[in-house]
Amino acid sequence: MLKGKTALVTGSTSGIGLGIAIGLARQGANIVLNGFGDAEGPRAQVQAAGQHASVRVAYHGADMSRVADIEDMMAFGAREFGQVDILVNNAGIQHVANVEDFPVERWDSVIAINLTSAFHTTRLALPAMKAANWGRIINVASVHGLVGSAQKSAYVAAKHGIVGLTKVTALENATTGVTCNAICPGWVLTPLVQKQVDAKAAALGVSNEEAKKVLLGEKEPSMQFTTPEELAELAVFFCSSAANNVRGVAWNMDGGWAAQ
Ligand code: NAD
Repeated sequence: MLKGKTALVTGSTSGIGLGIAIGLARQGANIVLNGFGDAEGPRAQVQAAGQHASVRVAYHGADMSRVADIEDMMAFGAREFGQVDILVNNAGIQHVANVEDFPVERWDSVIAINLTSAFHTTRLALPAMKAANWGRIINVASVHGLVGSAQKSAYVAAKHGIVGLTKVTALENATTGVTCNAICPGWVLTPLVQKQVDAKAAALGVSNEEAKKVLLGEKEPSMQFTTPEELAELAVFFCSSAANNVRGVAWNMDGGWAAQ
């Protein structure tokens, strides 16, 4: 379905971003990976997923808190593959503390990586997408783009912000073939959430499995984690022609979290 297209997925060496990169490669899209840590393992996984369609996989290690790095990554994507047709803004970090205790530099990092980076990638991707009259921008927001939780001020502010950016980007391009939508997951068991499970287990003196149940029980009526594979299927749908007129939505996959 996406043969001949190129998708750049930020923060795709792990978790949800890697899952979405694999899902898009399976549909035949070439992939630009980004993120910290080992890139070769993820690259091999994405390559294997797209092998049947001879997809090409590249990697750029841009730090999404640095504008110059982002500019270099977007230019790299265009140089390697002609242009970036699908942009998935996924890179994100979390920090948990009350507002009055929130370290100022952590606030700045969360806003830079979870929100401002998407402004930069989007502004840099749009001209070529508009020229081609086809493009897909998918912002991995969160259920925290729709509702708040205590101790997550920077994260909730950034995620509400990216839902707003999604709507404005969708509106500005509403008469073109370029769409912009957001995905709002509830709990997904990735390294980002495992840290919160570990903290909960330590705080309550319970096992890892018990801590997972407590975490789910607080917020997610389904008592199930959403998986990166499920989120990837939603991203694939946003890229399909059936989604040509899906514009500016913030679609939660959250086990009923925001329905309460
Ligand atoms: P993760 O920690 O598994 O992956 C985060 C990715 O971002 C990694 O590849 C990491 O290297 C990369 N990254 C972090 N800082 C970066 C930087 N400065 N520059 C470039 N890359 C950087 O986390 P995840 O759970 O897969 O989260 C992915 C996205 O999904 C985030 O935006 C997160 O807020 C969102 N999300 C996650 C959950 C969840 O429950 N896990 C729920 C809702 C939304």
